[in-house]
Formats: sequence, C-alpha cells, structure tokens
Amino acid sequence: MASMICRNPATGEVLEEIETTSISALPNIFNQARVAQIKWAALSVAARSSRLIQLRETLLNRTDELIDLIVRENGKPRHEALTSELIPVVDMLTYFAKRAPALLKDKPIPLTVMKHRKSYLNYWPIGVVAIISPWNYPFMLPMGQILMALITGNAVIFKPSEETPLVGLKIQTLYEEAGLPSNTIQTLIGDGAVGAAIIEQKPDKIFFTGSAMTGKKILSSAAQHLIPVNLELGGKNAAIILPDANIDFASSAVLWGGFSNSGQICAAASRILVHESIVDNFISLLTKKIGSLRHGVSDSSQNDLAVITSGKQKAVYENQINEAKALGARFICGGAFSPDKTWLEPTIVTGPGVENLSIYNEESFGPILVVTTFKSPAEAIEKVNNSRYGLVASVITQNIALGEDIAKQLQVGTVMINEVVYTAGLAETPWGGVKESGMGRTHADIGLYEFVNIRHIHKPRSRLFTFKSPWWFPYTPYQYLAFRSFIELYKRHWLDKLRIFPHFLMNLIQFIKKEKRL
Ligand code: NAD
Repeated sequence: MASMICRNPATGEVLEEIETTSISALPNIFNQARVAQIKWAALSVAARSSRLIQLRETLLNRTDELIDLIVRENGKPRHEALTSELIPVVDMLTYFAKRAPALLKDKPIPLTVMKHRKSYLNYWPIGVVAIISPWNYPFMLPMGQILMALITGNAVIFKPSEETPLVGLKIQTLYEEAGLPSNTIQTLIGDGAVGAAIIEQKPDKIFFTGSAMTGKKILSSAAQHLIPVNLELGGKNAAIILPDANIDFASSAVLWGGFSNSGQICAAASRILVHESIVDNFISLLTKKIGSLRHGVSDSSQNDLAVITSGKQKAVYENQINEAKALGARFICGGAFSPDKTWLEPTIVTGPGVENLSIYNEESFGPILVVTTFKSPAEAIEKVNNSRYGLVASVITQNIALGEDIAKQLQVGTVMINEVVYTAGLAETPWGGVKESGMGRTHADIGLYEFVNIRHIHKPRSRLFTFKSPWWFPYTPYQYLAFRSFIELYKRHWLDKLRIFPHFLMNLIQFIKKEKRL
C-alpha cells in the first residue's frame, strides 16, 4: 500500500505518514458516492442546511486545534490561520445555511407576452462533484466549496493538495462528525495522478482551484467526457496607486496585499502601479514597513510572514529572480532565501524594462512585488489589462468615483477600491477570474448556482388554456398569411407599442376558436 510523508514546512519535522488512495479503488468510491448522493438529495434543502450548520458549533469549539494543524502543515502565521481560514468558513456556513432554502426554491420567470402560460426555474443537484484543491488555503477554500456542493444536494469527491493532506483529512472528519450520511463526502489522498484519475471516473462536475497550467490539463481531460468545469486559477494582480492616494495608507495596503501568507495567494497584489509623482515616497515608506515584518520566529503567533509551503515554488522564485538580476532589474530589497531556504525575503523589484520580465508577467505566488509607474489613469488601465491573467485588481485613491470609473475598465473578476485581496473570504460576494485566471464563480448566490442544474418548467396557466398552438402542424396558407401580416405590424412598430407578440395573438384566436384539446 502506498503512503506519503507529511512534513512541517517550517521545520522539516515529520508530522505523519498516511496512506494514499489507490487508483484502482476509484470505481468503487464513485459507486458509493452515487448511491449516497441519491439519498442525500432526497432530503429537503432545509434538512440539509440544518445538518450542515451543526458544523459551526464544532468549528467554534475546536478553533485552536484546527489552527494548530493548519499552521503545522501549511506554515502560515497563526493570526492568518484564524482570520483567513477559520473565520471565513464560519461566515460561509452561517450565510449559506440561512440563504440556501430561499435560493434553491423554484423561481418564477415573468412571461411578458405568453400570459396564458407560466414558466419557472427548478434547481436540482448535479450529482457527484469532484473538488480538487491547492495548498495555500487548505481549509477555507475546500470547506466552502464542499459546503456549497453538499447543501445543493450533491455528493463530493474531495482531493486536497498533496502538500496539505492532513488538513484535508480533518475536513473529512469534521463533515462526518456533523452527521453527514457516509460516502456523501469522500476524501482521496494523493498527487496530480490521483486528481487526473478522478476525472477519468467522469464526475458530473469538476470544481478545480489551482494553477493555470493544471487548469488547462483538467479542462482538456474534462472535454473528452463533456464534464462541466469551474476553474479558480492564478493571477498576477495589479494595485493602482493614484496620485491623490495617502501614501501611508497605500503602502500599508500593498504591504498586506503583497506579503500576507508570504504572497502565496492567488489574489496577492504583485504588480504595483504607482503614479510617477509619488513613486519615490511610496517605495521608501513601503521598504521601511517591510523592515518591521517578523519572520522565522519559532512561535508562529509572533510571525507576520509565512514560510514557503511548497518546495516547488522555490524554483519559480529562483528563476524569476535570477532572470531579473541578469537583465538589470533594480532590487530595492530582498531577492534572497533564508539560509535554511524555508522563506524568501520580502522582495521589491523595479527599474526600466522590468515590465518585459517574467517576474512582472508570470505568477510568482510568493513575497515578490514589482513596482512600476504610470502617468495617467488610461496608461494604468492599459497596463493592468495587458496581462494573460484577470483575477483581481485594487485601486487606491481618495476619489472613490474615479476609482469606480477605473474599476469598470479593468478586465478582472473583482476590483477592490482602497482594499486588497480579502473579498475571497466573503460569503456574499462572488469570486473568480477571467482570461487565464479561470472560469465560473464561487461564493455568493451565483456561486451556489454553479452546483446545481437548472431546469426550466413551462406549463399552461390552467387546463382551460391548453390548446393546440398555432405554429404546430399542419401549416396552412391562412396561418402563414396571419404570421406574415405581423411582419408589417412590426415594421410600423404597432406590436412593439402594444407589447403584443404575434404568437400570443394567434393563441388568442385559437382560444376563441375553442381549439382546446385537453
Ligand atoms: P496545482 O495546480 O499544482 O495543484 C492544485 C491541485 O491539483 C492539487 O491538488 C494537485 O494535486 C492537483 N493536480 C495536479 N495535477 C493534476 C491533474 N493533471 N489532474 C487533476 N488534478 C491535478 O496548484 P497548487 O500549486 O496546489 O496551488 C497554487 C495555484 O493555485 C496558484 O496558481 C494559485 O494562484 C492558485 N489558486 C487559485 C485560487 C483562486 O481562487 N483563483 C485560490 C488559491 C490558489
């Protein structure tokens, strides 16, 4: 039986050796999920919500234990494990348990012309949803997605990152302890090979969070089976600092936006576009503030900076930094690893030509900021949009109206004015990107609808209004003439003014003719 060793990325200490999921077990796991899903979906949304909300008490009572585990396996500061992992999940549970019954009720569609008929939307579970997750928010990201998948009546096959499987297994335990029927959620342990094998089992939907590179592979495999996919991918996110910005405020926003979780955040502010009139003051204040960030302290409650969670990232940082150095970029600070290579010094890079470098154009997913300048809002907008990514952007200004005007021209999924990063943790607001940052949305009401199929049901207002429609066979010259005359009425805008649709008029005639057949 294969196994994997889980280590603390800060110390290298072995935490546990755990069994990985055998790919040959997958068909059975999926069969069990399909059986469990049917029973789970048979419960009302209110019943499912009331089961899931029990999880809230567990989280509130076991906060310290969960924070300990997240810090040990992921290496983020204790403070962030609380604020960015635990609290958003409690918020999401509360929000969706309360909202789901109303959101998933049949929703009438007002018909403007076919008044003798009614339409409504009916939401039904998709089936077995595969949720594949990264390591940077090993608790918050999958907990929320699993919650949305379950509340809508799906069963879940969950694969946590191979970097944080212990947090993944803890999530499984938490859902089980909340009294979920067995096999409603099943957690599979392993690397990308297990992820790829999950797709070959043809889940009914794939909800993937991770890099653009893996996202492309998943989309391509899913296309072979026409499996719908949500992709929450990476970003190279810009913060625009307008000339009227308060420099103390702006530098603090960028400090947190760029260096919380040591920049290992899809939404990290990493391209910092500063108006040329304030760039020198901005950089000098930001550099001063970086000097006060604490790292490498053995008690994680004292740390401001996370360690590098995944060894794979070190090569990415090294390549980008080496290229920037070789091509003459100016390093204001940082650019070097700690002697034990467990963290990278907070790094600021600038200088002419920096915009051509991979450190500016590719995701670093680390504590690296590239500062560049602009002369006008139009130039800043052009620079933000000139990217293959489109996850988030920030605008820092005292002129909120100007900030909104700029926001509406940015090709990204979220724009935060005078804020950075954090709306990923809000239950009410949608999250997701455009371009190579992904497709689909998570969180918020529209995010919940990603986990349901939508059925349109169309019916007569009553039996009385059930008659043969005038567009059915047999086609007659009389029918053709009648419909043709409507074209003339359209030309004169008469029908538009009356807001009457020809099919409705024809239906009316059928009704008067007593073409009733039921
Ligand atoms: P990754 O793409 O390497 O791995 C993500 C998950 O996919 C892991 O569980 C991995 O085992 C699995 N996987 C790998 N290859 C696979 C395959 N061929 N088929 C199926 N599954 C496969 O990403 P990562 O390094 O874990 O996470 C970092 C990335 O995630 C960054 O790019 C970051 O921006 C992105 N991210 C995006 C969001 C968002 O909300 N948009 C949130 C967090 C992280």
